[in-house]
Amino acid sequence: MSDATRLTPAQILASYDGRPLRIMEVCGTHTHEIFRLGIRKMFPAQVELISGPGCPVCVTPVGFIDEAIWLAEHGATITTFGDLVRVPGTSGSLATARAAGARVQVVYSPLDAVDYAREHTDEQVVFLSVGFETTVPASCLAAKQALDEGLTNFSLLTANKTMPNAYAALRDSADVFLYPGHVHAIIGTALCEDLVAQGVSGVLAGFTAKELVTALAVAVAKGATGEPFFVNAYPRVVRPEGTPQAVALIDELMEPCDTEWRGLGVIPQSGLKLRDKFAAVDARRVFNMPAIEGRANPACRCGEILRGSCKPSDCPLFGRVCTPQHPVGACMVSGEGACSAYYQYGGDML
Ligand code: SF4
Repeated sequence: MSDATRLTPAQILASYDGRPLRIMEVCGTHTHEIFRLGIRKMFPAQVELISGPGCPVCVTPVGFIDEAIWLAEHGATITTFGDLVRVPGTSGSLATARAAGARVQVVYSPLDAVDYAREHTDEQVVFLSVGFETTVPASCLAAKQALDEGLTNFSLLTANKTMPNAYAALRDSADVFLYPGHVHAIIGTALCEDLVAQGVSGVLAGFTAKELVTALAVAVAKGATGEPFFVNAYPRVVRPEGTPQAVALIDELMEPCDTEWRGLGVIPQSGLKLRDKFAAVDARRVFNMPAIEGRANPACRCGEILRGSCKPSDCPLFGRVCTPQHPVGACMVSGEGACSAYYQYGGDML
């Protein structure tokens, strides 16, 4: 490899001639931006970029969609971000449930769902709380607001995930992780330092073209050595201590639990559920919901894609049967999903 000290980050990427490297971008927004900005085209053949399980919609299992449909069919008004409406469940989606008469409202924040509950006291309003440490504080804030106002018609259906044990589950899938900047803006960098001690390498990356190329250049330059490392390449936002107030809010309302990830199965203690004292805003308890197990379409390869073991273009349905207009799996629904990114920007990379 050339002398990295005299090269720009883009030149470091383009001139890399070291050992083969697998870099996994864990964050769905990174996946989307890397495709949109054409950064993949800067990579030499021996560097493989793998899309990981960082899209919250993509990792949400089929059973959760079935639970939301069950609630809608039992009188709840479902409030959710738009992507989840089109994600297929075992038989149908929230969109098909809505077409059949269920109440499904798209909102732009959990607090919008509280507003809806306040204005519709004759409806039981459930907000679908999915996503990682980045979005959980907003769900917690909404639940607290509803309780503080004495609303008895608002609850959360949770499928929230946390990253620490997911990294452990994925450690053999990549040589270097591109860590999600917004997750670590909340939880800080201690986890990344701990992972180095376990032999796991990673770079914390921001979201602009310059930040992404810089982080990827660091990943190849340091990854070439084969020595475990961690570099915070997003210091303008991620502080070592994270955002303690947000962590405290999550800890007040929620506790760790085992949870299912699409494609990765159940990862112990990688989810968050509402604590017993917040049962009044836990939709599963409010509605006394039975255990519901979903079944994914066996032709869909989202699971393998999320594990980094195949690419969207390896799926026989990609672009033929499965498109953003007619998605078969979650990875084609979400704008952050790998299949969607390949479909929109993949072009000559397929
Ligand atoms: S292209 Fe569609 S069916 Fe194939 S893995 Fe992606 S989402 Fe699933």
